[in-house]
Parts: sequence; structure tokens; C-alpha cells
Amino acid sequence: MWFFRVRQYSYFTETLMKVDHLIVGQGLCGSLLSRELLRAGRSVLVIDDGAIDASSRVAGGLVNPVTGKRLVRSWMTEKLLPHAEHSYNEIGEELNEQLVKRTSILDFFPTHDAATLFMERVTEDAEYLSGRQNEEQWRDFFRFNYGIGVISPALAIDLGKFLDGWRDKLVERNALIKSKFQVEELIVTTTAVRYRDIESADVIFCDGASAKSNKWFGGLPWSDDKGEALIISVPGLPRDHIYKQGLSIVPWKDDLFWVGASHDWKNPQPGISDTFREATKERLDYWLRLPYTIEAHISALRPANFDRKPFVGFHPIVKNVGIFNGMGGKGISMAPWFAGEFAAHTTEGNLISPEVDVARYKKILERSLS
Ligand SMILES: Cc1cc2nc3c(=O)[nH]c(=O)nc-3n(C[C@H](O)[C@H](O)[C@H](O)COP(=O)(O)OP(=O)(O)OC[C@H]3O[C@@H](n4cnc5c(N)ncnc54)[C@H](O)[C@@H]3O)c2cc1C
Repeated sequence: MWFFRVRQYSYFTETLMKVDHLIVGQGLCGSLLSRELLRAGRSVLVIDDGAIDASSRVAGGLVNPVTGKRLVRSWMTEKLLPHAEHSYNEIGEELNEQLVKRTSILDFFPTHDAATLFMERVTEDAEYLSGRQNEEQWRDFFRFNYGIGVISPALAIDLGKFLDGWRDKLVERNALIKSKFQVEELIVTTTAVRYRDIESADVIFCDGASAKSNKWFGGLPWSDDKGEALIISVPGLPRDHIYKQGLSIVPWKDDLFWVGASHDWKNPQPGISDTFREATKERLDYWLRLPYTIEAHISALRPANFDRKPFVGFHPIVKNVGIFNGMGGKGISMAPWFAGEFAAHTTEGNLISPEVDVARYKKILERSLS
């Protein structure tokens, strides 16, 4: 049973709302962390501006156990994938929504070399990779010349339903403020933080790509990576797989499909581009045999960093200012696990894994304060 303690105290004429943790941002990170803290019996107040171009609102929702052209296992995939599946299923039950689909990725080889490499990897890692399946059944849907490999299990997570459902839960409990957090109004003392009429033991920034302008964590090695995707309608395309050939076609809400994504970390300007739209259209025109229509074009900055590991924990000097961020392109699998670690650190004093503990950047964080 969770309980929410949002207490009101009167000091002189002023009414202060007191909570245990103030969280900035209700994307994937803020949602999962607030849930873990509530489950541990803490009170939270989440402030979120509802931006529609937040990374979590644009993501394809995919958990792929292998990564890159060489199809190596993603970092910690043996732990992260089952934990993510369990967590999102549990959240789905709490929200009365189906959030998780266990699925497979059909990898359409773009070249003969890609097919050879895949088959070599099948002999090394049969847990997630398997060889050609009945290819003929896909000839009416796709144009392909070099065969299909299967990556399985993979997960497709309905992030839209999760974020909306969790937002409603927070609203029901008076634990969400819909507004832009103005960082210059935050007062941090050694024992507490104060934001307008809210007092809390700490503040935890889960504000995605905005965090790089934050005075406590802006100095971290951020490396924003802009991603774009198209939302398309393809009547007749089966919805029980994810299709991949460089781009991925992922079943999306309302019978639509998500097609993405690009990576632009060299000059990641916010917003959609004609270049992506035209290049994706050209590839779909060749690959897909079925007629399709483009319904939307979306983009966001992934909050990524150079060492590709999240930033988790409290500032090593300013100990009541925390961060849960830097998930890059793997947030859906990583965030549930590390939200649990962060909450257990906060409530039980457990250690955060050193590879993700933001204290690994202590020197940089010290320097940026001076
Ligand atoms: C095109 C694309 C495809 C992707 N596909 C996948 C995928 O298939 N699988 C995967 O694992 N990952 C994917 N990702 C990455 C994934 O989206 C991120 O890892 C993850 O969603 C980051 O979550 P977050 O909570 O850190 O940030 P965000 O989602 O950006 O959330 C931050 C929140 O903070 C709020 N906020 C920011 N500043 C303020 C402020 N001052 N005041 C109030 N609120 C504020 C924002 O509105 C937002 O709600 C993809 C990303 C993109 C762009």
C-alpha cells in the first residue's frame, strides 16, 4: 500500500507544502523514479511542463537485446530486459493498461555481408538470435534479397499509455504540478531545498535534454543525439513483429506504425528536417510493397552522453541535488533498473553501481561549481 505524505505547515503567514522529494520532469526517468520512491513510502512532488517533444514522447518503445552492426549484446541485457518486462507489466496492472508486448524483430539483411555476419553470430549467441525463418510469407509485404534473421525476445513498450496513466495517478494524489520549473527560483541549503512554497529534503532532476543548462550538472559530458521518426499508416501490415532494415518499423498506437530513427549528434538542432523525411520515404518506397501514408513527423533530443551510461545519484558536493538522466537511446531498458537502485540508495543507503553513479564525475562537478 502506498501512502502519499504532502503535508502543509504554516510558518507565520506562509503555507509551506513539505514533501520528501521534489522531482523535476515526468518523462520515463521521473515517472519511474517517482513510482519507486512512492513504493518505498516516501512522498514526492513532480513538476513537469508537459512538453510534447520530450524524448520519451517520441521514442519507439523498443527494447532490443542486441546492438550495433555487430549484433553484440546490449550492456547488462541479461538483467535489464527481464527486469524491464517485469516492471512495465507490474505498472500496467497498476494502471489497468497493457503496456508490454513481448515480440521479435525481423532483421531484413541489407547486404550479403550482413547476412553472413548475422549467421556467424547465431552460432555464438543463439539465446537472442536465430537464423532464417519462413521468408516466403513476407514477400507480399517487403522487397528483400538477402534473407531475414530473427532477434528475440524483444519488447515493445507503450510509453504513451505509461506516461499518461502515471501522470493521472500523480494528479489524483496531488503529487504533480503542471508547470515549467524555474531553476533560478530554487533555493538549496545544506539541509533542505525550497522552491516557491514547496520545501523538500532534496531535488532530483529528471529533466532530460534540459539538464545540460543546469548549474549543478551542466558540466557532465553530455552529447545530445537528435532522433526523428515518421508515423505511418500501412493497412494490412501484420502488427505482431518489429521490422528492421537500418530503420525499424514498430507497431504504434491507433493502428499506426512508428518508423525510425535517425541519430544526429554532430549538429543536433531541435525540430524535424526535410532530409530525414525524404530519405526515409525513399527507403520505405523501396522496402515496403504495401501502400502507406505518412501521418506525422516527430523529433526529440535524446539525453545522451559520451560514456553511454546513465547519470544516477546525488551531486558529490551539493548532496541534496540529484540527477536521474543520460539514458541515451536505451532508456526503456535501463531506467527501470536504475530507478530501483536510486530509490534504494535514497531510502536504504544502498550503493549505486559505480558505472552509473554520477559521482564518477566528481572532479568535473567540483570544477563546474567554482
Ligand atoms: C526518436 C527517438 C527514438 C527513441 N527510441 C527509443 C527506443 O526505441 N528505445 C529506448 O530505450 N529508447 C529510445 N529513445 C530514447 C528514450 O526516449 C530516452 O532514453 C528516454 O525517454 C529519456 O527519458 P527522460 O525521462 O530522461 O527524458 P525526457 O523524456 O526528455 O523527459 C524529461 C521530462 O522533463 C520535462 N522537463 C524538462 N525541463 C523541464 C522544466 N524546466 N520544467 C518542467 N519540466 C521539464 C520534459 O517536459 C519531460 O517531460 C528514443 C529517443 C528518440 C528521440
